[in-house]
Amino acid sequence: MLEVTEKIKPCVRELRAYALTPERAAVKLNQNENPWDAPERIKQESLRRLQARSWSRYPDFVPASLHARLAEFAGWQPEGIIAGNGSNELIQALLMVTIGEGKRVLICEPTFALYRQIAIVLGGEVASVPLDAGLKYDVAAVREKMHTIEPDVTILCAPNNPTGCGIDAPELVSLLENTGGLVAVDEAYFEFAARTVAPLLERHKNLVVFRTFSKAMGLAALRVGYLMAAPEIARETAKAVLPYNLNAVSQTIAEVALELYESELLPQVTRIIAERQRLYAGLQTIEGLEAVRSEANFMVVRSRIKPCLVFEELLRRDILIRDVSGYPLLQDYFRVSVGTPGENDLLVTALQEIFA
Ligand SMILES: *Cc1c(COP(=O)(O)O)cnc(C)c1O
Repeated sequence: MLEVTEKIKPCVRELRAYALTPERAAVKLNQNENPWDAPERIKQESLRRLQARSWSRYPDFVPASLHARLAEFAGWQPEGIIAGNGSNELIQALLMVTIGEGKRVLICEPTFALYRQIAIVLGGEVASVPLDAGLKYDVAAVREKMHTIEPDVTILCAPNNPTGCGIDAPELVSLLENTGGLVAVDEAYFEFAARTVAPLLERHKNLVVFRTFSKAMGLAALRVGYLMAAPEIARETAKAVLPYNLNAVSQTIAEVALELYESELLPQVTRIIAERQRLYAGLQTIEGLEAVRSEANFMVVRSRIKPCLVFEELLRRDILIRDVSGYPLLQDYFRVSVGTPGENDLLVTALQEIFA
């Protein structure tokens, strides 16, 4: 009998699906979201604009007004920007136009699982350089690997999910100048790092930067992200993006969020950064835990107790974290997102109990 799945590419059949466990809890620290809901002013202004818009008409073919606001916000030319239905869509689009059989993607692990997943589905080969013993980028090893495998695309996440490490501009430049391929930097969490590689776009035509509205911008439900690159790269990548990928609701709300970023969202980001320092200090006082410094709104924590047990114990106390012990190098680690001050207090208190 013919197995229907025989028609599925072997490289896909061999993959384990990217999935998230369905647990729910009152204190949700598992997905690195902004712990506060979108500010009321952003909601009200967005609803006002949506009310005034015709819902029977397609959105813009190219969301030009959003691209213009992004250009202003990020300091890059609108011709080099694509907005998408989440940054994941644009990561996929870039890999669709660059990766196929015989093409190579270079990543550093542990990192965001989707890069490997998409590259494999597209039939590409993935090479990986481990982070160093301090869970930071080993740039010399990446340079070396670039020489041996000549990757078509190198993907770095900065700050890296799940370890929170960043990359220095001179080191990134050394990689950009060391490869004939593209170097994509996923800046999903750059707002919390107070640094960005975007200024390098001007001089380095092989740099591609991804950003999202799902984290600091507090709009994970809306699915908006953007890509920044040389206009010729953006033009080619746009060929892999479906028409009307961004719906009018998300486009409108993203524009409002950019307009009100400084007054409404930046104060939240500042508070989250302060909470990250406070949470780090709180975790370090617990015997049996060792938090790793992070530039993002989350951190990994080394644990004397098995991470899956810590996960279960916290869930019993209505706190949801991420068990990342299945990632390379992270057998003994879990990851926590930085929550509101109250949530972080609950987390530290619960962990004090568990490790008492
Ligand atoms: C959360 C996250 C994103 C965001 O993806 P969206 O599709 O924009 O929601 C991208 N990259 C990394 C590494 C992330 O952790």
